[in-house]
Amino acid sequence: MIKAVYPGSFDPVTLGHLDIIRRAAKVVDELIIGVLVNSAKTSFFTLEERVEMIEQVTKDLPNVRVKKFEGMTVNFARENEAHLIIRGLRAVTDFEYEMQIAQTNHMIAPDIDTMFFTTSLEYAFLSSTIVKEVAYYGEDITKFVMPEVIDAFNKKHEVLGLKKLEKLG
Ligand code: ADP
Repeated sequence: MIKAVYPGSFDPVTLGHLDIIRRAAKVVDELIIGVLVNSAKTSFFTLEERVEMIEQVTKDLPNVRVKKFEGMTVNFARENEAHLIIRGLRAVTDFEYEMQIAQTNHMIAPDIDTMFFTTSLEYAFLSSTIVKEVAYYGEDITKFVMPEVIDAFNKKHEVLGLKKLEKLG
């Protein structure tokens, strides 16, 4: 039984993340998505909102679960009896940072390995930050996120007095 954790901020979950989730869920028995309670970064969506969006967009994947976590990923993995950490690699810029984290994690917890999935080309330059930026200006984000995420943006935008986003095909 192979269990893996896929940690991140997911602020919000994008089609790039979902691509990694779908591919990882095919090769492991159970995938636990860990949504980070990040004290250093301020997030646009609350922890509950980020968790809910991932639950909605992964509801067709029976071996995927979503959990919140705080602290080190290796501890989150251990608590869930997972020996594998999944990460996604986009353009070259991710490489150095991801290598550093993976090496450090492996030093701390030699029984836990990191497995990288290279992003599908169409999502290579997609990030949650870019999605938030485009959404802020009221532009179409249907190529970047699932419709449930657009709904979540619109709830926030209503409160903040920002433009309503269309769900174009
Ligand atoms: P973090 O704050 O930990 O970087 P993110 O939510 O930004 O969290 O990303 C979580 C993981 O998903 C990271 O491994 C990141 O490299 C990966 N990822 C983010 N966007 C994409 C994408 N478009 N394609 C593939 N992987 C991605």
